[in-house]
Amino acid sequence: MKTVPDIFSYRKYWARRFGTAPVLPMSREEMGALGWDSCDVIIVTGDAYVDHPSFGMALIGRLLEAQGFRVGIIAQPDWRSTEDFLKLGPPNLFFGITAGNMDSMVNRYTSDRRIRSDDAYTPGGEAGRRPDRAVIVYAQRVREACGDKPIIIGGIESSLRRIAHYDYWSDKVRRSILPDAKADLLVYGNAERALVEIAHRLARGTPVGEIRDVRGTAYMTSCIPDGWMVMDASTVDRPVRVETCTNPYHAAGVCDKTVSEKEGEAVAIHFSGLKKHVNRDRTVIRLPSYNQVARDKVRYAHASRIFHLETNPGNARALIQQHGRRFVWLNPPPVPLTTSELDRLHELPYTRRPHPAYGGARIPAWEMIRFSVNITRGCFGGCTFCSITEHEGRIIQSRSEDSIIREIEAIRDQVPGFTGHISDLGGPTANMYRLKCRSEAIESACRRLSCVFPDICGNLKTDHGPLISLYRRARRVRGVKKVLIASGVRYDLAIRSPEYVRELVTH
Ligand code: SF4
Repeated sequence: MKTVPDIFSYRKYWARRFGTAPVLPMSREEMGALGWDSCDVIIVTGDAYVDHPSFGMALIGRLLEAQGFRVGIIAQPDWRSTEDFLKLGPPNLFFGITAGNMDSMVNRYTSDRRIRSDDAYTPGGEAGRRPDRAVIVYAQRVREACGDKPIIIGGIESSLRRIAHYDYWSDKVRRSILPDAKADLLVYGNAERALVEIAHRLARGTPVGEIRDVRGTAYMTSCIPDGWMVMDASTVDRPVRVETCTNPYHAAGVCDKTVSEKEGEAVAIHFSGLKKHVNRDRTVIRLPSYNQVARDKVRYAHASRIFHLETNPGNARALIQQHGRRFVWLNPPPVPLTTSELDRLHELPYTRRPHPAYGGARIPAWEMIRFSVNITRGCFGGCTFCSITEHEGRIIQSRSEDSIIREIEAIRDQVPGFTGHISDLGGPTANMYRLKCRSEAIESACRRLSCVFPDICGNLKTDHGPLISLYRRARRVRGVKKVLIASGVRYDLAIRSPEYVRELVTH
């Protein structure tokens, strides 16, 4: 895997002297009470601000605060005018814009395309507090309000719409969200690494238009920079019209795998489709253009397959897709966080509850997760219907057992209404904790779309021992009566460990 700095190793910004805010400010009055004359970063979000690590604005806000920046939150602004977007004044560095934890169209409409009568991320569950396509609308209002400030869009809505994509709501292929939002940068996937790097560069005076090499970012450009080799996507995978339903995981010529019989031994994998003597770090793959994928389903499917083949941070290349006279340029995906980075991120000083401005209003999404703990990120299932790989990648990032136990104790001690029940120890999949490839070198070179389909890969370590040990230790925490598992269990993996299944059904 590529070597990158620890996200907590950067030199702190001078504003660290203001200390840690009890809760990130949502008004000028709160800024004044903290002694701030301005914010360095303002996060605009479509969700109510809940200071909890399951909410994106809190996770990113607290992380940037830990870097020394003063971070303000504008939650669920009225998008019909610029007034709410100016309420904290202009930020010194940038506006970060997100629709919230869900795509705004999924949040606003049912799968029958009917408008929903409620919104779990709003106080009182009230509907109608965010616009359709919130990232685009918020970015336009911010541009009107503070035209010269850099705009960085992120979160699930931007991440999954970073190239031309099928939009169920309009039943059309839409172009990338970048030109519509007119953002300076888009951060995709888990964006901690990218945002920390970008914030420090902006703080050092680098113009946002010169930040072009950060992994996990995308931007619009009119030209291919010197020194880059452009490869057509058809040289990576051949687009063909298929009349019968084929196995989308088939990767002949890319990963020629020989299954080892010996347990514990790494399996040899030959990547015959990977070209040698080509500098992958200076290679960019040209996807079919927006116009081509909008007109032709085969090219759409081809672009989508290349997009998925280039998700392993160990070997993914940059991608470009033409939109009119310009290109969307996608840098390779971010390097996953280490266990110690993930631990520190989850143990920042969250209050673990909604901002006091909401009074006692119910926020259903917070009520659902307030007694649960996120233990992993990523999923190597690669299911074709799911967007996790496109967003979080397929390398599992796991927290340490000690950190998870400390979070359970924090819930017990800080969260109102705790009665001894932990409602989930989970993540995208309940039972991928600490599961990974036998060898980092093989994992870095791997081009498979799934570690478990059509068969569980011979290189995958499926030991459920650490997860069983975590469950047992969690149940022994003082004040905990029961630990539930609400995340989805992957049965094909679970049956490899009868002890794990017994543990689940017994407790
Ligand atoms: S375990 Fe997963 S990453 Fe490792 S070789 Fe198999 S498919 Fe590739």
